[in-house]
Amino acid sequence: MAIKSKKKASAKKKAGAAKSRMAKTRKKSPTIKRANAAGTDPKRVAAILAKLDEAYPNATCELKHENAFQLLISTILSAQCTDVRVNQVAETLYKKYPDAKAFAYATPSELEMEIRPTGFFRNKTKSVMGASEAILEKFDGQVPRTMKEIITLPGVARKTGNVVLGTAFGIASGVVVDTHVLRLSNRLDLTREEDPKKVEQDLMKIIPREKWIQFSHQIIWHGRRVCHARKPKCIECNLESLCYARDKTI
Ligand code: SF4
Repeated sequence: MAIKSKKKASAKKKAGAAKSRMAKTRKKSPTIKRANAAGTDPKRVAAILAKLDEAYPNATCELKHENAFQLLISTILSAQCTDVRVNQVAETLYKKYPDAKAFAYATPSELEMEIRPTGFFRNKTKSVMGASEAILEKFDGQVPRTMKEIITLPGVARKTGNVVLGTAFGIASGVVVDTHVLRLSNRLDLTREEDPKKVEQDLMKIIPREKWIQFSHQIIWHGRRVCHARKPKCIECNLESLCYARDKTI
C-alpha cells in the first residue's frame, strides 16, 4: 500500500511539473499565441475593413480644430472627457489663447478655471502649458511631426501623438488606441491583448499602413454610435456576421 501511494504521488508530481512546463511554454511562445488568435486571418480583417468603409466612409476626428496646435491641446483635454464637452470649452478657449505663446504665458489659475469642465484640470493645465513651452523652446513654435519628437511634449503619449500626426498631418505613425478601439478590437477578435501599447502593435501588424488613420476614426465612430460598451446595438451593426463577441446582444 505504502509503495502504491508513493508511486501515485510521484506520478502526480510529474504530471504537475509537465503542466507547468506547458503553461510556461504557452506564455513564452508567440507562435502558439498567434495560432490562437483566430480573428486575424487576412481575409477576415479585409472584410472588417470593407464593412467599416461601407458604414463610415467619411469618419474623421470629432474634436473641432483649426490647426495642429489646437488639435494637440484639445486631444490633451479630451482625456477622461467627451469630445462634445472639449469642443464646448475649446470654442472660447482658443479665442483667449490663440497659440502656443498664449498658453505658455497663461496664468495657471485662470487657465485652470477655463478648462475645469473637462476634468482633471490641474494636471491638464500643467500639460497644455508644458507642451506649449516645449513647442516654443524646442520646436520653433511648431507642433513636431514625428512620433519620436511629439511624445517628448508633456502630457503627450502615443495615443495623442497618433491623433495629431494622423489627423492634422496625414502621417500614419501608428493606430490610435482609445477606449473604443481597445474595446472593439477585442470584441472583433483583432487582438487578445488589454494593454493599449500591445493592442496598437497587434493592429499595426494586421492592418495595412494606409488604413491606420481611417481605421482608428471608423472604429471610434462605430464605438460611439453602435458598439457601445454596455448594450451594443448588434441588431444595427453591419459587422454582425463577422463578430463573435461573447457580449453580443443578438
Ligand atoms: S455585432 Fe455587436 S458586439 Fe459585434 S461589433 Fe457589432 S455591435 Fe459590436
